[in-house]
Amino acid sequence: MSTDANCIFCKIAEGKIPSSKVYEDEDILVFHDINPWAPVHFLLIPKQHIASMAHVGPEHTEILGRMMALAPQLAKQQGCEPYPEGGFRIIINTGVQGMQEVHHLHIHVIGGPRPWKKG
Ligand code: 5GP
Ligand code: ZN
Repeated sequence: MSTDANCIFCKIAEGKIPSSKVYEDEDILVFHDINPWAPVHFLLIPKQHIASMAHVGPEHTEILGRMMALAPQLAKQQGCEPYPEGGFRIIINTGVQGMQEVHHLHIHVIGGPRPWKKG
């Protein structure tokens, strides 16, 4: 598995930095955002280091598909209210102009009853 020694999310994926885990399997880790925008705010990451959506190619179809399919299940489990009155936002910031701060691909899932702090 490719990791980047200087990457904070690789360290979280390896358990070197603690996180509040929501879900884990061999390839994917899901944990609560340290600075949540809303009552529900968690991040899905691939355990392998992929720097951003700009680095995604056909070889990542399966992992990305699995992450996207997990998102609604975990959103419900974490307290997002049902569609259509409830729901959630999925955000993947990409690059500096795309507001990406941590350069390890992550999917934000943000939801729960409003008002939210942000978003
Ligand atoms: P970005 O702007 O790159 O899309 O979002 C990075 C997110 O990672 C931010 O929402 C930030 O709060 C979160 N984050 C940054 N460092 C840590 C950390 O060490 N632990 C956790 N749980 N979240 C983090
Ligand atoms: Zn990484």
